[in-house]
Amino acid sequence: MTEDIESLKKELASLKGQLVAQRRELSRYRMLSSIFKSATQPIALVNANFQILNINPAFSQLTDYKEDEIQYFPINALIAHHKREELWPPVQTSLEQEGHWEGLLWNEGKTGNIYRVQAHIQSLDTDDLDMAKYVFFFHDVTHQKETEEKLQHRSNYDLVTDLPNWNLFLNRFISALYTSGQEGSQTALLFIGLDGFKIINDTLGYTIGDKLLQEAAIRFEKTLSEEATIARFSGDQFTAVLPKIKDDDDLRIVTQNILECLERPFEIENEEIFISCSVGVCIWPGDGDDVETLLRNADSAMHKAKDNGRNAFHFFTPDLDAKAQARRSMERDLRKAVKTFDEFHVVYQPIVDMKTGEMKSAEALIRWHCAERGLVSPDQFIPIAEQNNMILSIGEWVLETACREIKDWSRQSQTPFRVSINLSSRQFKEHDLPKIVKGVLERTGFDPNQLSLEITETLMMENLQEALVMLHELKAMGVRLSIDDFGTGYSSLNYLKKFPLDTLKIDRMFVREVTTNAEDAAMVAAILTMAQSLGLEVVGEGIETAEHNNFLADKGCNYGQGYYYSRPLRIEEFNLFAKKQEFERLS
Ligand code: C2E
Ligand code: MG
Ligand code: MG
Repeated sequence: MTEDIESLKKELASLKGQLVAQRRELSRYRMLSSIFKSATQPIALVNANFQILNINPAFSQLTDYKEDEIQYFPINALIAHHKREELWPPVQTSLEQEGHWEGLLWNEGKTGNIYRVQAHIQSLDTDDLDMAKYVFFFHDVTHQKETEEKLQHRSNYDLVTDLPNWNLFLNRFISALYTSGQEGSQTALLFIGLDGFKIINDTLGYTIGDKLLQEAAIRFEKTLSEEATIARFSGDQFTAVLPKIKDDDDLRIVTQNILECLERPFEIENEEIFISCSVGVCIWPGDGDDVETLLRNADSAMHKAKDNGRNAFHFFTPDLDAKAQARRSMERDLRKAVKTFDEFHVVYQPIVDMKTGEMKSAEALIRWHCAERGLVSPDQFIPIAEQNNMILSIGEWVLETACREIKDWSRQSQTPFRVSINLSSRQFKEHDLPKIVKGVLERTGFDPNQLSLEITETLMMENLQEALVMLHELKAMGVRLSIDDFGTGYSSLNYLKKFPLDTLKIDRMFVREVTTNAEDAAMVAAILTMAQSLGLEVVGEGIETAEHNNFLADKGCNYGQGYYYSRPLRIEEFNLFAKKQEFERLS
């Protein structure tokens, strides 16, 4: 009996002990739970599969998710979508291998807001999936980071225009000069001053003045390549550094584009404002050895541009300036001429059958009779037109004029007559070339079989795939295709085979000395053999003498073109030439 009581007492004491331990455990749990809940720091408990088990209210507040909404959610789903692939894998690896991770995360809240947190993640000693394996502590640093970034931005960018400020510009300029030095390339420094900005500022007020600076800055930035840096130097002055200048002409075009980007008026607070700029250009190496000298020279060049009547550029190097100004002035005249085409006409140069001496076709060549300059050679103005879209309207105009004139003219002639027209690579890069040709043929009623288009080797090689597609399209329309100036480009037989060509024109450079230079003679003979094996007709260009003619005819060249037969003629003279030939043939 006493034994029973003793054992009951012991049991009671042990139960009491257990109860006390449980109570203590419970109160510890309650305490931890209340710390967890009342903590101002966002905390999440996550299992070994990285699924969320519990979050505290601070975490809810930060993410906008309630606990029951994200329970068993993968914790990495909280990382901003666009950053997840980059940010999460190193976190997971570090947790699995080292048991902790600390760093900056970009997260996305329930409403899609992006916030940044400094995260501390610690692993706990358990593998039970229902138990917390990791504790995530987040500290919201969005605001702090934004302030830091704003400060950083402010120290590098101009407050009004948001362009790089002088500080940042100087860094980029120096590094561009360094790279240039290593690569052996050229870097240009441009000094840009707005013309008459002070008057606008004084009459319309600073607010409009500032807006104008902002808008001008946007246009400058859009005009320049990504490699260039433009900065606000002071007031209404900007500086730009252009690394990796290809050649003088490339630089002239960029400079000209800067002038042109201000041509459209600015609309600011219902005011239409016109402004232009003056640009001074200097180049390293050549125009100065250090930043200070280069800057001084670009500034003085800009003042020369202002003295020249503003809305102008001036290159510090005199030779370069003369060349660039001449190109710009020709481009201006050309642009005017292309508006009406009154100053242009087409001449036709007969292409003659070498066996019979009979004229079989003619090459259409454009002529520009400029009111100020007199006759300008296409070798001078076509490259300028090719630098912008002018070549597209010129090309279409020549095509249409030649088709119309030759159609009118060939009404009287019995035999089918072909006209050959030059295409430039820019026209080729336009994907609708076959459509344009088709349109012209329809408008003029010209027979596609009577049209031959001359293209150069370079043109084909530059756009190999597109060229092939387009040439096949043109071919399918019935148009013939010639390769012009053959021998001056890549001259690869393999390439030639790929293209649906009909005719090959031997460049006049080889023909010129064909009877005196053994190398040229061998070259011409080789081209003829090759063309024959490819089944191409051959036209010898630049035939000036009977010797040229005889040499080529002997070697089996089919057709000849050159001053020996006739110079390029206006349509009326061409008509007379054809009549004379007809008369000679009949008599
Ligand atoms: P091209 O297509 O090779 O044209 C032949 C050039 O050689 C023409 O010069 C022609 O006048 C010249 N020529 C003809 N026979 C002789 C000769 O016996 N001796 C010499 N020394 N030259 C001769 P042009 O008209 O000055 O044209 C020069 C280049 O300008 C053309 O070379 C062509 O590439 C381009 N071109 C002319 N008209 C047009 C056009 O309408 N569109 C395009 N895209 N380019 C054109
Ligand atoms: Mg040609
Ligand atoms: Mg040619």
